[in-house]
Formats: sequence, structure tokens, C-alpha cells
Amino acid sequence: MSEIEYPYGIDPGPDRQVCLKHFSDYAIEKFITENGFWSTCDYCQRTAKVVDLGQLAEFLIEAVQYFYSDPTNFASYNGREGGFLVSTFDTNDILFDIFELDIDLRRLDDDLREWFDSEAIWADESGYYGEGDQMLIYSWQALTNVAKEKLGQGIYNVVIDEYQGESVTIGHFLENLRKEIETLNLITILNDKSQIFRGRTHSEQIRPMQASDFASSPNPTQPNRMSRSGVSMFYGALDPQTAAMEIIEENGPEYVSMAVFRPDSNLYLLDLTRMPTLPSRFDKKNRSRYFILDFLRQFAKDFSKPISRDGKQHVEYLPTQFMTQFFQKSEFLENRIDGIIYTSAKHSSGQCVVLFFDYMESLKNLWFEKIYYSAISVDNFDL
Ligand SMILES: [Zn+2]
Repeated sequence: MSEIEYPYGIDPGPDRQVCLKHFSDYAIEKFITENGFWSTCDYCQRTAKVVDLGQLAEFLIEAVQYFYSDPTNFASYNGREGGFLVSTFDTNDILFDIFELDIDLRRLDDDLREWFDSEAIWADESGYYGEGDQMLIYSWQALTNVAKEKLGQGIYNVVIDEYQGESVTIGHFLENLRKEIETLNLITILNDKSQIFRGRTHSEQIRPMQASDFASSPNPTQPNRMSRSGVSMFYGALDPQTAAMEIIEENGPEYVSMAVFRPDSNLYLLDLTRMPTLPSRFDKKNRSRYFILDFLRQFAKDFSKPISRDGKQHVEYLPTQFMTQFFQKSEFLENRIDGIIYTSAKHSSGQCVVLFFDYMESLKNLWFEKIYYSAISVDNFDL
């Protein structure tokens, strides 16, 4: 009998057969349906399409190989420092913890773990991935690090990969991201019937009453996640409760007034509240999009974080400011976007909107409909 060559990470375990019933991942179910043969499942005794555990282990290890590699091939090793200079994982860590492989039976879980070589280790090779024609993937964390290091200068030309002898830059990556946003159609249009709410907090004596009191700040002094200090944008929300929650601060002014605006013409907005779910790590057909979708989701999460005034925002906000600027300059389905819709950090399920309008542009492009409410005590809102 000839020895079977198993791929890196596999170490033969029990010779049993399993049906799809014991897994919740759609890609694993599909694999068993397409590759199984009719027999008895060793775990539920049903007659069904089954695969050998070895067959399944090879399918699973292939996904591990797609996302991770053997660190001996790329990482430096330092015995004194205690090993590889990158984080390493064993196969079962990746499959069961990182990929969240979910199995309904303890016995099957134990048997499957035996199929993986406990000596095999894996590491994430530099945070990006190339595949297919020019599919390039880069993590939000990696871009965040570059943006902070470069302080926004020349970041488009930073080389992040080589592909067929050509340099791949952050600029190329962002172009792929732009196309993905078009494919996913993450653009939401607000028309002249849509309401945008914007509030102001104030003392009892001063009541904002007119459009100019609610327009974008004429001279913003603080940087925030979307714009550098000195860049004026219009911040609002798509419902009054969220608009109020966004501006009320502990120990801040005691009253809130709210205005309603309507767009003068259609507004095209990148909608970060409609993030797609991630494909299964075992889904060969769609997993090349895993990184780019994960990037978008991580970016959206950062974008929605509450503003901190700890003095570090100058550097901390560079990555999201850089991306905002990129989106502002890009065309999606032949339209420039006017702003971004994002999830409120202060009011769960509330949608906030930032429009790339300074003081004058906000007064020109938004129609001031009415004062929605005037001088309500902040005590009326649950902070
Ligand atoms: Zn079964």
C-alpha cells in the first residue's frame, strides 16, 4: 500500500464518515453535498451523503492555507525572543476559534481535531493577499498603520505588493475597493422628500432660530473622524432622537433645539450602515472578497466610534480622514458622493449622516424646512 501524502497541517486521525447535518457553515454543507457518497453517517447513523473525515480535513486545511502560511517560509526566527517574530497559531486555533467552525457533537469535534497536526504552526503573512487577475487585499489595520506613519503624505504610492513584476500600491487597492462598493451598490440616495435633522445645544438665553444657526460650522476648530480641523462639514442624522443624542454632552449646555432640512436635489451617499455579511472562510468561490469586505466593515466600525478629545485625535483620526477624502474625490456609478451615512455611536440603530458641505454650501444645497423643536431640556434624553 502506498503512503498517502498529506498536506502541511494534516496528521491522519480516525477513519470515519460524516454527513452535513453536524455543521452550520453553508460552504461545508455544500462541500459534503457535492463530494459525498451515500452511506451511513458514523455520528447520527442516518443514511445520507457522507464524506470521510480525511476528505473533510483536507477541505478545511485548504482554507487555512488560503488565509495563513507556514511562518518558516517568511518570518524571522529569534530563539532568544522565544520564537517567530510574528503571532503564530495552531491549526485548531484557526479552525475552531478564528474561523468559528461550529460542530454539534463533541465526539465529532474531538475526532476532527485529531486530523490536524498539533506541531504545525501558521501565521498571517503581512496582512495582504493577492489572487486572480489583480485582486489585492489589504487590512484596515494595515492601512491605519501606514496612514499614521505617513501622516497623509504620499500614501497612494505606498507599495504594498508585487504582482507579475509590477508594484501594487495603496492607490490600486483603493481602486479595487471603489469597484467593490459599486458592485455592492452601497450608495443610498436622499431626495427632496428626505428629512435630515440637525440639532444644536445651547443655554437658556440663546435660542438658535434660523437656518444659519444650524448650518455647517463656519470655522470648525476641532478635528474629527471625518475631517481635519478647519474643514467644515454638515453633521446630521436621519431621525431627531439620534441627532439629539449625537450632540448632547455630559456637563454641556442644558437645552437642545432641532431643525429639519431637505436636500435641494438628490444626494448620493456612501452607506456604511448596509455592510454585507462576510463570506464563509470555506467558501472558495467568494472568499477572495473576504478581505475587502472585512476592510470595509472595520472602516465602518472605526468611522462610527465616538469622538474622543484626549489630544491624540490629530493622529488617531488620520486613517478615517484619509478614507473620507478618498471617497469624496471618487466617483461611484459616475456620481460623486455628497457624504456618508454611518451608524450612530450614541444611539444604537440610529443613522447619522455627514455631508461634504461647508457653511455656505450647506445653506445653498439644503432647504431649511422648519424648527422641529425649540429649547428642550437635555434631561429629556436618555444619555
Ligand atoms: Zn450525521
